[in-house]
Amino acid sequence: MSTQLEQARKGIITKEMEEAASTEEQSAEYIRDMIAIGKAVIPNNINRKGRSVAIGAGLRTKVNASIGTSSDIKDMKTEVEKALAAEEAGADTLMELSVGGELDEIRKEVLGASALSVGSVPLYQAFAEAIKKYKDPNKLTEEMLFDVIERQCAGGISFMAVHCGITQITLERLNKQGYRYGGLVSRGGSYMVGWMLANQKENPLYEKFDRVVEIFKKYDCVLSLGNGLRAGAIHDSLDRAQVQELVINCELASIGQDMGCQMMCEGPGHLPLDDIEANVKLQKRMSGDAPFYVLGPITTDVAAGYDHISAAIGAAQAARYGADLICYVTPAEHLALPNKDDVIEGVRAARIAARVGDMVKLGHTERDREMGKARRDLDWEGQYRLGMFGDKAREIRNSRFPDEADTCTMCGSFCALDNVSEHFSKCLQNGAKA
Ligand code: SF4
Repeated sequence: MSTQLEQARKGIITKEMEEAASTEEQSAEYIRDMIAIGKAVIPNNINRKGRSVAIGAGLRTKVNASIGTSSDIKDMKTEVEKALAAEEAGADTLMELSVGGELDEIRKEVLGASALSVGSVPLYQAFAEAIKKYKDPNKLTEEMLFDVIERQCAGGISFMAVHCGITQITLERLNKQGYRYGGLVSRGGSYMVGWMLANQKENPLYEKFDRVVEIFKKYDCVLSLGNGLRAGAIHDSLDRAQVQELVINCELASIGQDMGCQMMCEGPGHLPLDDIEANVKLQKRMSGDAPFYVLGPITTDVAAGYDHISAAIGAAQAARYGADLICYVTPAEHLALPNKDDVIEGVRAARIAARVGDMVKLGHTERDREMGKARRDLDWEGQYRLGMFGDKAREIRNSRFPDEADTCTMCGSFCALDNVSEHFSKCLQNGAKA
């Protein structure tokens, strides 16, 4: 069985490429060509048909929603509901990141319920199983680790964040740097660092990278190189350890592609607004434009409760400079396991960010122009149709309906648009000629 990348290199257009093209302003041929040169991927799995979306250069910025149990809250039914809510709210992909309860069973339920392509972080389950078996995560064996990766691939996972780029060299950079304001915030990354220190060994995911790649190729799953040392505080942005890991991940992305595997790199994390462009450009330049998957990024450390907004600001900027997939952040970030409402808010905020980025990155502005005209014309049905969240817009206006039906209760009879339209009807009708 050939991967999407191997087929693209032979000039083949797969049914997954055709399906992905149906939600883009690009052809299946374009998607094939981008996959062939490693600039796009389609999360896929030979054992499960998820909705095919292409992630990468010249394509709409995609939104990922992550769900999953914790050690405190492990209700499988709720996680399935959250998965379905994320899909309905418009997420393009889903990540199932459970660490509490029966992990194989939860993943199977979510994979069965969702139509989306589903990703995972296998280190979570690997370390959870080591804790269960030995009461010590550092007793995890290499075979247990590779077994979990293979098991999750065989079960139908379409993309996986695997922390291959944390090496002894990365840890040396961290040590020599001598500080970390925000510590290590990646769950998988921190456990892998702990394992490497306790066992005084190199990361097996780096040392046996070929073996990792061969498993992913077998199932045509996308290997997403995890950002285990990502900054978890604005003041750690672009520090030496993080950049060292990024260099290694970009190198591994090229090696994986040469082997015929679909590859993606993960990014931070917490970044001030003016570091985002540099971060995206570094990843793109060093990886030869492999798809970039950013987590947020969160742009201020002091907005807990509204971190979906802080992250949407960063994600819009990242998308504008070329990030290809945005992982949503919910209002519960840093505070609690997200509930269903948090998931919906998170997806909506990330979708706005993706759109704002694409207006610059891809020039997708036509819908905004039509909305401008609908607002000018007080065409309320048109506004509901063109809006990303038409139902929400209708609900708010109807909850405070105006005396004059054309307007809204913001200005009522002082409606600016209503007042001048009759005097300037001709120029207002035409609008700009651009
Ligand atoms: S009433 Fe004010 S806010 Fe409402 S449509 Fe008219 S100008 Fe816009």
